[in-house]
Amino acid sequence: MKYISTRGKAPELTFEDAMLTGLARDGGLYIPAEIPVMPKAEIAALAGLSYEEIAFRVMRPFVGDAFTDEDFAEIIQKAYAGFGHAARAPLVQLGPNDFLLELFHGPTLAFKDFAMQLIGQLFQVALSRRGERVTIVGATSGDTGSAAIEAFRGLDAVDVFILFPNGRVSEVQRRQMTTPTEANVHALALEGDFDDCQGKLKDMFNDFTFRDEVRLAGVNSINWARVLAQVVYYFSSAVSLGAPHREVSFTVPTGNFGDIFAGYIAKRMGLPIRDLVIATNQNDILHRTLETGAYTTQAVAPSISPSMDIQVSSNFERALYFAYGGDGNAVAQLMAELKEKGAFPVSQGALESLRETFSSGRVSEEETLAAIAKFHATTGEVLCPHSAIAAEVAARRGTESTPMVALATAHPAKFPDAVERACGQRPALPARMADLFEREERLTEVPNDLAALEALIRERISK
Ligand SMILES: *Cc1c(COP(=O)(O)O)cnc(C)c1O
Repeated sequence: MKYISTRGKAPELTFEDAMLTGLARDGGLYIPAEIPVMPKAEIAALAGLSYEEIAFRVMRPFVGDAFTDEDFAEIIQKAYAGFGHAARAPLVQLGPNDFLLELFHGPTLAFKDFAMQLIGQLFQVALSRRGERVTIVGATSGDTGSAAIEAFRGLDAVDVFILFPNGRVSEVQRRQMTTPTEANVHALALEGDFDDCQGKLKDMFNDFTFRDEVRLAGVNSINWARVLAQVVYYFSSAVSLGAPHREVSFTVPTGNFGDIFAGYIAKRMGLPIRDLVIATNQNDILHRTLETGAYTTQAVAPSISPSMDIQVSSNFERALYFAYGGDGNAVAQLMAELKEKGAFPVSQGALESLRETFSSGRVSEEETLAAIAKFHATTGEVLCPHSAIAAEVAARRGTESTPMVALATAHPAKFPDAVERACGQRPALPARMADLFEREERLTEVPNDLAALEALIRERISK
């Protein structure tokens, strides 16, 4: 399996190299040159298998010969062993044909653990085999950072630096990043918002001297291996609802477009997904784009669903690549226009193609609070703000004959203030992390400045 860049000008890589590299050298994102299709009989045969077995069968064709079957199966076992639910991604029924996919039973209580725990194991095996070290730098709106730190803490071939927007993540999120004691963990509080963090990360990747010197590796949701890990739970949930003999729809609380793009890949692989619904908070660039055809960035407005407080939705570039029929030059032009003007128009043909697969809905701050209260009152479920946004957008469509699965992306205890404000209940942390608020914090405040950041990273890894 070969991987190519969405901008068409970077070298083709294997799965392993695409994973270790993150961002392509032409600024693009890696995607498989071909998406393997899973025959209907093979999808049907997933019914009744464990999450780990489904993960193996769904991901195997993408990995090529980077890992043996035996190694890959063992990596998957280790990745999900620390989850707090035997089903890994259990489905809960909310209404006659409405379901919630709980993706928050991993070690940091958000769906990012599904990908990050797998990536940690994959990096470990690949790097020790090569005898190499890498410097992982990630940008986070809250959940990616804690998941990355949890996955890489204590691994000897890796230093992990996480940039998060100072003062704009929840206390649980911050503490999950600042309380690990391992020397290879570096939590950096950047003066700015998430888009500033992501912008600096991209600048570091585009500074080839620095990139090569520190052997920079990226684990943001632009990393293909992360998208791939997320494809699995679309299969596991759809099959338990009757696929491939029955269609299933999904509503996904969306920020950087990684999670929902995994759903698109599942669909391209042959999983009968009817609708993929993008659910946004007040930072609704994707909702506006689908409505108007203009991708126009605005200032980020901080919300009670901070993991979706994003204006530049990186993985959307992958969707554009497919919507433009695989035209890397067209994508490169759009991205240049975005960098220059903060906006670009989507062509009529590409917009139609996007609308065939995706629809969208937006939920305001007040509506999010009301949704948490409503679902608590009517179903007994306490939802985090992100999950409530998905459930609300799904519910607005009314009950349909196709089952609708809303993705619950974080545990409510990660966002206790908003949840308590909405429904009067303060969700408790699971017992395994109940002492989080007593642990000592360790972080470094950094300016929104590329040279200062690079100097800090050089100094830390040279010790
Ligand atoms: C990251 C995150 C999202 C958004 O996922 P994307 O892949 O960036 O679209 C939604 N909810 C939670 C809780 C998250 O951590």
